[in-house]
Amino acid sequence: MKARITKDIAAAKELLDNGRLVAIPTETVYGLAANGTNILAIKKIFEAKGRPSNNPLILHFSGLDALSPYVTTISTDAKLLAEAFWPGPLTLLLPKSNKVPDSITAGLTRVAVRIPQHPLTQELLGILDYPLAAPSANPSGYISPTRPSHVQKQLGDKIPLILDGGPCTKGLESTILGWDDNGTPTIYRKGVITAEAIEKVLHQLPHNHQSKTLEAPGMLSSHYAPRTKTVLADAIDQTIAQYKKLKIGIIRFHSTIKGDPKANVEIVLSDKGSLEEVAKNLYAAMHELDGQELDLIVIEKAPETGIGKAINDRLQRSTTIV
Ligand code: AMP
Ligand code: MG
Repeated sequence: MKARITKDIAAAKELLDNGRLVAIPTETVYGLAANGTNILAIKKIFEAKGRPSNNPLILHFSGLDALSPYVTTISTDAKLLAEAFWPGPLTLLLPKSNKVPDSITAGLTRVAVRIPQHPLTQELLGILDYPLAAPSANPSGYISPTRPSHVQKQLGDKIPLILDGGPCTKGLESTILGWDDNGTPTIYRKGVITAEAIEKVLHQLPHNHQSKTLEAPGMLSSHYAPRTKTVLADAIDQTIAQYKKLKIGIIRFHSTIKGDPKANVEIVLSDKGSLEEVAKNLYAAMHELDGQELDLIVIEKAPETGIGKAINDRLQRSTTIV
């Protein structure tokens, strides 16, 4: 059975009120949403995704007033970041209150919270009297969805409804920021809100989280991966030449030689070389090539500046580096 793809918010609310799953659009990626206070509904998220129960979920709220009861404190720094970036693609790790079920945080004392920007999801959150727990709407470990069709293909037989908000405008999962034991702001997952942008607000450059423990499985070394073997290339033309006997698909960061005759398929992410555009188009390109029975996908590495760092972070997890 296929999910219904619709803009019908009332239908989405009714399903969610009844403990069912609904895919929702956000500016980052599509989320697989459930009532974040209903333990049975939360369990369905883990089952549908095949997600390990030790991988905590992000709670989504309409605004700060709705969020406040779910955390014990919002520090001055957290308030500054909320003011600067919410609604938007930033997730904060804050001390959880007892209103947050343990299955949301996988037993951790902090809960991941976000106020998303997408107008349809904002409207939906505004008519619900609970937050939405929503990880990305893909089977665990696979590429995140940025279009309703990606959700339909991957999870359409497991959910009744996909709320159609069109293509995601940012295209990469949210930046996750928390504070370590010394109170130092720490990035747990890179995203389109960069360390430099956070520094401008806090007057302190956040650290990158280094631990190998499973605090944020978005940090697992294999994640966000296509099923086709995929390699990340520093010098893409050399890499392509190396594999010329294979049926390969190429994802270029921006165009150099258009329509390379050695490639079976080539997608250019941004003609003008804009990193925002690369982030927005990357997952759709990976989904498209992954559906084409290729021997190999070769993806060009982005420059390691600004959003390029988050792009390369995801690419390193989804590919073999050559
Ligand atoms: P997804 O929504 O699929 O991008 O997954 C949510 C991400 O947030 C995962 O990488 C989680 O590990 C991370 N996350 C959620 N809650 C917490 C938490 N309390 N502490 C650390 N990471 C978290
Ligand atoms: Mg995910």
